Amino acid sequence: MVASHSTCLVTGGAGFIGRSVVAQLLQAEPDRLVVVLDAMTYAAHPAALAALGGLGRLEVVEGDIADTQLVGRVMNRFRPGLVINLAAESHVDRSLQDCSPFLRSNVVGTQVLLKAALATRVQRFVQVSTDEVYGDRHGRGPARETDPTDPSNPYSISKACADALLLVAVRSHGLDGLITRGCNTYGPGQFPEKLLPLAALRWSRDKPMWVYGDGRQQRTWLHVDDHAAGIIAAARDGSSGAIYHLKCGSPRSNEQTLRDWHAALLPGAVGETLLQTAADRPGHDRCYKLSDAATRRSLDWRPRHSWKQGLAATARWSREHGNFWDLALEHPQWTDYFRSQYGSPWLSAR
Ligand code: NAD
Repeated sequence: MVASHSTCLVTGGAGFIGRSVVAQLLQAEPDRLVVVLDAMTYAAHPAALAALGGLGRLEVVEGDIADTQLVGRVMNRFRPGLVINLAAESHVDRSLQDCSPFLRSNVVGTQVLLKAALATRVQRFVQVSTDEVYGDRHGRGPARETDPTDPSNPYSISKACADALLLVAVRSHGLDGLITRGCNTYGPGQFPEKLLPLAALRWSRDKPMWVYGDGRQQRTWLHVDDHAAGIIAAARDGSSGAIYHLKCGSPRSNEQTLRDWHAALLPGAVGETLLQTAADRPGHDRCYKLSDAATRRSLDWRPRHSWKQGLAATARWSREHGNFWDLALEHPQWTDYFRSQYGSPWLSAR
């Protein structure tokens, strides 16, 4: 048994934000053992995780957080002092096609982890959540950390449910736990079903990127390394039972986001054919908007990447790593999804 309070279990550590959390934990805390538990779904990049190295301080276990026996074995073997739960199905469009995996991973999986964390007396449990749990803020003010949730798609419902389970474990069972709710995240290595990397993929094949509906839906954007740093700051300095909002700047429209991204990625290129209207997402939330006033008062965390710098750095990375997801894009989990979402094979679609 590797028993150490400095051991941290990061679920979903092979995913987009998880890899940045793992990298920062390994870098900042030389005594820390980091254990990753990840089901290695289509969204994981195990090779990029392995490349983080860690000189024997990184252990990777492939498995499902909803598997009670496996989670029990992992918790008993490593006895983590800190659990950071990022494992989740994370794409709204997929949740509208079939919400079952979302309920299993995001809700049941979180409950299995919480129960095991209580049984093994972890010192702190961090539930990584999203601004989407507040639902559509169109015509309303920014959501405060104390506002009730009001989710409106299967993904955000599953995340709000997981958050509620965490709060029950704190209130009724004495768990030391907290929640971070971050806004839309971008940066190197994101799976290309999400807005920015999908657009980069399309433009690299001389295809226009789809814009759902009128393109005026508003989102706030946070660089992945800032999001990860915020999660770690909350784990370190946050209070049990509290909710922390991680965001950078103000909401901008999806269309403007894509135009900014195109200018960063392909400076000087003519942008007339860069976008094409597609049918809107059913029930599409018009706006997500967070207030982070309380978070700023209590956490020593500020985003370091402005939108302009963050996009420029992500564009550089994308130009240098164009083949990062090539293997995954051959997989039926991608090609089937793409066909059912956009009605055509992804390469030839227009
Ligand atoms: P991602 O889809 O890139 O990665 C998710 C990871 O979780 C993958 O490695 C996957 O293999 C793993 N996973 C999925 N189901 C699992 C299961 N049942 N058991 C074990 N592992 C499983 O997601 P991401 O963008 O890195 O998001 C990480 C977390 O942050 C999620 O909880 C998400 O809800 C939250 N979040 C994401 C964003 C965003 O814009 N990406 C914004 C706010 C919050």
